Amino acid sequence: MTRKSTAKTIKCPQCGKPSEWSQDNSNRPFCSERCRMIDLGAWASEEYQIPVDKSEDEYSTGLDEDERRFTPVRH
Ligand SMILES: [Zn+2]
Repeated sequence: MTRKSTAKTIKCPQCGKPSEWSQDNSNRPFCSERCRMIDLGAWASEEYQIPVDKSEDEYSTGLDEDERRFTPVRH
């Protein structure tokens, strides 16, 4: 099995068409500038809404100090 892959081809997130993932393609991961602009526009509009949870600021480690088990050290 021989591999002849000069450029990686990915799926355009916007239209789903195969798009070339190369340095030539400045619109990657999109196939064209049009798709890129469409995506940018979609982000600007309310189509994509990122839920921002501002109520929970504290980090949950899932492990409290008390729950840590100290291994007995033998002298
Ligand atoms: Zn596209």
